[in-house]
Amino acid sequence: MTLSDIEIAQQVEMENITKIAEKLGIPATDLELYGNYKAKIKPSTEKKQNGKLILVTAISPTPAGEGKTTTAVGLADALGQIGKKAAIALREPSLGPVFGIKGGAAGGGYAQVVPMEDINLHFTGDFHAISAANNLLSAMLDNHIHQGNALEIDSRQITWKRVVDMNDRQLRHIVDGLQGRLNGVPREDSFEITVASEIMAILCLAADLADLKNRLEKIIVAYSFTGEPITCGDLKAAGAMTALLKDAIKPNLVQTLEQTPAFIHGGPFANIAHGCNSVQATKMALQYADYAVTEAGFGADLGAEKFVDIKCRLADLKPDVAVLVATIRALKMHGGVAKNELATENVAAVIAGLPNLERHLHNLKDNFGLPVVVCINQFPGDTKEELAAVKEACQKRGVTVVLSNVWSKGGAGGIELAEKVVALAETKSKLAFAYEADLSLVAKIETIAKKIYGASGVEFTPVAKRELAKLTELGFSNYPICMAKTQYSFSDNPNLLGAPTDFTITIRSVKVSAGAGFIVALTGNIMTMPGLPKKPAAENIDVDAEGNITGLF
Ligand code: ADP
Ligand code: MG
Repeated sequence: MTLSDIEIAQQVEMENITKIAEKLGIPATDLELYGNYKAKIKPSTEKKQNGKLILVTAISPTPAGEGKTTTAVGLADALGQIGKKAAIALREPSLGPVFGIKGGAAGGGYAQVVPMEDINLHFTGDFHAISAANNLLSAMLDNHIHQGNALEIDSRQITWKRVVDMNDRQLRHIVDGLQGRLNGVPREDSFEITVASEIMAILCLAADLADLKNRLEKIIVAYSFTGEPITCGDLKAAGAMTALLKDAIKPNLVQTLEQTPAFIHGGPFANIAHGCNSVQATKMALQYADYAVTEAGFGADLGAEKFVDIKCRLADLKPDVAVLVATIRALKMHGGVAKNELATENVAAVIAGLPNLERHLHNLKDNFGLPVVVCINQFPGDTKEELAAVKEACQKRGVTVVLSNVWSKGGAGGIELAEKVVALAETKSKLAFAYEADLSLVAKIETIAKKIYGASGVEFTPVAKRELAKLTELGFSNYPICMAKTQYSFSDNPNLLGAPTDFTITIRSVKVSAGAGFIVALTGNIMTMPGLPKKPAAENIDVDAEGNITGLF
């Protein structure tokens, strides 16, 4: 019988978190304990970042699931097994997917972070703090209008939204402030999920508390009747919001099933935001460990591109090695096989799917200048011939390729991966960005589309053109671009799998996240408030009289 993720996690005895911190040499005085297995860590400015940074990314994802988090966790465990001091830096899961379709996001099988129930549910309260800060700003904004609207805010041009950390489509479009003079000013409003809040992105990019406050002040919440941006600073909300976030900004320390230290902190969306854990957590892992393993959301066209062009650029980071995760199942789908036929062996389809892998590989190596190891994350149904076909194709092209079994074996299943990563980390490499910051916004978007996606061109809708002109006029043209595009394809059409050519990308609208420090370019309708499926994962989650949780996966 195969055990579920939560059953595996509950079988393993955890080490006290003070012992995990000791492994890294974190001073006891920098630890703020949240029970026996979780702690927040005070940032240290004295310690140098001497570790090697390992970025785990993947080919274009399919509904079959790729296993980036699982691989990141297993790789760090494997590094530990070969005697290296390793730590992980990962995102915190959102409650939306936990109760929706995807389930938890703390790895899988024998490569997980624990206590997984806590990490997947309230953890140390960071997301609640972010929701509170976000909604304080909403409350102050509507109160300002109610109290006479001295700033002349045009309530039809309010861009700031309320948030809740839940998949709740009912709240996507609402009317509030109803019922007369005493109860606010009626207007159209909407909710987003907490991880889509700009505050989440800000928390993840902020260097420290002062920088956090500065960034919050710059958030644009609305436009006035004359088209002037109204900011959080104008509403005098940033101080109180920062007060709500003063603990949330500190990285959380937990452990893997093999007691490898794991910094889990922040979790911005990977479409309208940059999709990776906080800069502070990554830097902490680099300060205290010799190898810091981290993950970027979605495939390498989105995740790795934003990791490099937004996070590394803003925080002065540089990955030493990229791990490109691929699965036989996903390659088969890119090779044209339908989801319900993945169980049948099909070597030809695996080979037909390789161009997707090759384009990501080309981007990582040639466009970003990173040493890469291709990691085949082995699933139970993969056949010998299918696995051999990928290995052979990579070896033929001189690409380092390994098989990983961390899901079924933990760190022991990732020894070869760890050895290859250690060897590649010694390569002298120079990080390159996809584009320089001083290009125009239009040129930056075109560069990403052509160079990284392989598009033949970009079309801008009239709305997008107008918005780009306005943002340029407002002085945001040197901001990096955060592309919001489907994760399933290099193109903006989720059905074009593999490595499509001769396609154009359509930019439908653009907006600025002035506090986070990037311009979001939207290629389609990006959902910032997901809904629950017909049978939500929540239906299977339960807790017994002793408080033991079941059904989280
Ligand atoms: P990602 O980070 O790429 O979204 P995850 O690591 O969260 O992917 O994995 C997605 C799902 O696939 C999880 O439920 C995980 O347990 C499962 N999974 C990952 N690798 C394997 C594997 N080798 N075999 C079986 N299931 C796996
Ligand atoms: Mg993941």
